[in-house]
Amino acid sequence: MKKTLISNATIFDGTGGKPFVGHLLVEGNRISSVKRGKAGASLVADTTIDGTGKFLMPGMTEGHAHLSFDGFTCTENLISPPPEEHAFLTARVAKTLLDHGFTSAYGASEAKLRLGVAVRNEVDAGRLPGPRIRAGSLEITVSGGLGDESRLHNPRNCSSLSNSTSPSIVIDGPEEMRKVVRICIREGCDNIKLDVSGDPFYPATPADCTTMSLEEIRMAVQTAHAFGKKVNVHARSISSVQNSLIAGVDMIYHAELTDEKTLDMLEQARDRVFVAPSVGLFHTMLHEGEPHGLPRAVAEGMGIPALIEASVKTHTELRKRGIRHLIGGDYGFTWNMQGTNARDLEYFVDYYGYSPAEALVCATRNGGLAMRAEGDLGTLRAGMLADMLLVDGDPLKDLSILTDRNRLAMIMKDGEIQPR
Ligand SMILES: [Zn+2]
Repeated sequence: MKKTLISNATIFDGTGGKPFVGHLLVEGNRISSVKRGKAGASLVADTTIDGTGKFLMPGMTEGHAHLSFDGFTCTENLISPPPEEHAFLTARVAKTLLDHGFTSAYGASEAKLRLGVAVRNEVDAGRLPGPRIRAGSLEITVSGGLGDESRLHNPRNCSSLSNSTSPSIVIDGPEEMRKVVRICIREGCDNIKLDVSGDPFYPATPADCTTMSLEEIRMAVQTAHAFGKKVNVHARSISSVQNSLIAGVDMIYHAELTDEKTLDMLEQARDRVFVAPSVGLFHTMLHEGEPHGLPRAVAEGMGIPALIEASVKTHTELRKRGIRHLIGGDYGFTWNMQGTNARDLEYFVDYYGYSPAEALVCATRNGGLAMRAEGDLGTLRAGMLADMLLVDGDPLKDLSILTDRNRLAMIMKDGEIQPR
């Protein structure tokens, strides 16, 4: 079995402990040994990488990946690329994420049903470069909900899964949900995405509006879990978060609007649910949208400042209550391009009060746990899958280093050093 040794690096193992200087040995696709100080000096390998002065950490997980979004300016862009071009775009984004230190991508949803599936399959087969991927489904919404862009007078039809001109699939009632979830799984999706609440992009159903019913969410969870698959929810409103928890979903996105009862419910579910606030899209819309044709006044008119304020309040509290937060989310618009996803680390510090080390644990350990139920991804310990980054610099002093791909001296996925 091939052995690779990273010697004398400052090792941040992702468990929450302090970094230490040591040696790490990889055999095949797993870490076989992590030794502190000089204890690893006798380790031998086929390849040795000198980690002196460098920071060795687990690979990061993008917790809310849209691999099929890139350089978009509006939801219309989700629909416009033809399927062939869209597949290439998705493959390019997968490579971009890997090149920027994301060795895992937990799929939120994709613009067409099989984009994430097809790229995941190619990456798994070793024919395309990319992170480990849990493939997201289409967005599943209800009539009139977020993403239902059909109108009676308009030929665009959001009720057909095979119609690649729709960004979402519209269902009404548990039976339609059951069928659509089964079809998404049949077509290869790992994660089912439900739009439970509204969103500021859709004025008729704002963020505080709960569009999907508890019965519909329950059916999705029951059906997906029967196949061993996971359910993600877009949930900005109070009752969307509560109903999602009652139904037993696996991943909650956004969760800005909460009350004491909702926070308590989240805390009670903290050992089984993951939460990704995905505040980056709102931050960049408000502060960096102007050069991309998105005036601040438009973002203000959409109510973005109040949602950021609510996000800060909720997720600061959830941090204190030990929620397993993940970084990432909704990258792919022109004002928050794919590849800049590690900016979330700084949002976690600035908005939610995480220390840099704790933010890195969200990006690594928590991400690994969400990706694999086996619990063998996201930390640098013997027996774990060998996904890691050797960083030129100390991210604990300056997290922005991780947004610069030139500072990543080595990216390893599944025991293989990735070509740059
Ligand atoms: Zn999203």
